[in-house]
Amino acid sequence: MKQEDYVTEIKKLKKERNAIILAHYYQTSDIQEIADFVGDSLALSQKAADNEADVILFAGVKFMAETAKILSPQKKVLLPDIEAGCSLADSCDPKEFKKFIEKYPDHTVITYINTSVEIKALSNIICTSLNAKKIIESLPKGEKIIFAPDINLGNYVSLRTGREMVIWDGACHVHEDISLEEILNIKEKEPSAKIIAHPECNASIRMIADFIGSTTALLKYIETDKNMIYIVATEPGVIYQMKKTRPKKKFIAAPSLHFSHSECNFMKMITIKKIYDCLKKEKPEIIIDENLVNKAVKPIIRMLELSN
Ligand code: SF4
Repeated sequence: MKQEDYVTEIKKLKKERNAIILAHYYQTSDIQEIADFVGDSLALSQKAADNEADVILFAGVKFMAETAKILSPQKKVLLPDIEAGCSLADSCDPKEFKKFIEKYPDHTVITYINTSVEIKALSNIICTSLNAKKIIESLPKGEKIIFAPDINLGNYVSLRTGREMVIWDGACHVHEDISLEEILNIKEKEPSAKIIAHPECNASIRMIADFIGSTTALLKYIETDKNMIYIVATEPGVIYQMKKTRPKKKFIAAPSLHFSHSECNFMKMITIKKIYDCLKKEKPEIIIDENLVNKAVKPIIRMLELSN
């Protein structure tokens, strides 16, 4: 089948199944186009918790589809490629993490949404890069905090809030791989370019950035900022939305240490064909033990309440 035939069939299947497609900003442009809703992790969780569909197809990675299932356990949640994982989520092993938090029994455990369901079940509050600062500031001063799993986001939020935290040493390979040297090379050729970076980038990138923020914050920034050229230090899928809202501006994906830009290979495992196959066969489906869902939902609900 041709790409346009897949798109037509996907639209038909969505109607037949009363399904919606939720897509992350890091998905390819063709997937963002067919999605009913495109957003960051927070917006996608809010949408997963509040929609009329019977089936949610998640165009993203496994922890996102799991979050949708936790929030809507009565719905069928589909992930077109069950192998679409996340290096950051994988950097936090549940057994090791349990031992880690047991060393700090009087600490509140705040974990980033990029974690497995088992890690969420061990947490007190979930956060995303958009609301991490707000969530930490909602806790009384002096409250002891464990932050996991992203060391870069943890250090960044600790600096911004002035709160000391015990931080798990995990990272996302996509953001860790972004090359400072290559960014500086681009900056030499395009001196007026502003560097905008995701807080999952390491400190050397954050230090030279003109603006640091979550994908949603980066999108808002380029909408209102007057500059015309940006070097974008995060997964380049977000540039599709940037070009959509500000077509006259120029966006350059920050190169990685090894490639011309820093793509998430897990996010890019989802394709239009896989979405079609998944909707047709209604699998792979996300199934989570009920007991685990009941534990993992509490810290997510806490995040949603604190974010509203
Ligand atoms: S970009 Fe990084 S944090 Fe996001 S899904 Fe890919 S590996 Fe995980």
